[in-house]
Amino acid sequence: MDTHLRYDQPKQTVAAGEVIFGSPEVIVMAGPCAVEGRETYLSCAQALKRMGVRVLRGGVFKPRTSPYSFAGLGRDGLKILAEAREATGLAVVTEVLDPRDVEVVAAHADILQVGSRNMQNFALLREVGQGGHPVMLKRGMAATCEEWLLAAEHIRAAGNDQIIMCERGIRTFENQTRNTLDLSAVVVLKELAPYPVVVDPSHACGRSELVGAMARAAVAVGADGLLIEVHPDPAHALCDGRQSLNQPEFAKLLQELRRIAKAVGRLIRSEERGEHGQGIADGSLKINQGVANDDY
Ligand code: PEP
Ligand code: MN
Repeated sequence: MDTHLRYDQPKQTVAAGEVIFGSPEVIVMAGPCAVEGRETYLSCAQALKRMGVRVLRGGVFKPRTSPYSFAGLGRDGLKILAEAREATGLAVVTEVLDPRDVEVVAAHADILQVGSRNMQNFALLREVGQGGHPVMLKRGMAATCEEWLLAAEHIRAAGNDQIIMCERGIRTFENQTRNTLDLSAVVVLKELAPYPVVVDPSHACGRSELVGAMARAAVAVGADGLLIEVHPDPAHALCDGRQSLNQPEFAKLLQELRRIAKAVGRLIRSEERGEHGQGIADGSLKINQGVANDDY
């Protein structure tokens, strides 16, 4: 192990507005893979807020394997993210692909995501390290925990220790899943490093029917947060629909996750309460589905 890693540092929390990663709360981040349009994104954001989600996700600069795939709305998408943040009061996380975009992304988002494909893009790590925004560093798909921690060290060495580590699955010989979710990495990182660790079961599994079980396992194993792709109409998503939960599926999963969090001494924020003090999950989801049918 590299001697420059300071394993004796005390645990640290990372704050994005009023959201604190590394606290007893398991922070739920959710939203579509990509921001596809203003109305659809804003209505999805409102539904997620009502369910108790703490951070909205949505890619606007999308790294795509094929140059012909939808690559996001770019700066127009950033404006939609900022509008969703304003309308809901929720924090926003989005990926920054290019060091030249760090400033503009930071002006519109609360957490800067460095994606798997860029875990060792040292120019990008330096640039996000020089800013003051929290950085969510996704594990490279072929990175060891040590390489991942050294990538975080590049950010810290540049001046920013507000780092959230995100396990999102690694490539193995297994092909039933898009990647193999390495939940032991959550435990290993907590042993070795001071940073909060979150889990993205969506990119790990690649299939929506597996996401719930792995999200539950992630909470059980001690993850400080979850990043889950939720789309109002996964079958028609422009990106990663196959692994996206629809809103009712996600609302049901949240209820299960709350029970698991409680069992392991953590908590997940509850859904907003309706006028009569009832949970809104059932009623509002029917309404949301109605909106989805009309709008999307
Ligand atoms: C994403 O979260 O939008 C993404 C592209 O994930 P990853 O970098 O883990 O593939
Ligand atoms: Mn995605």
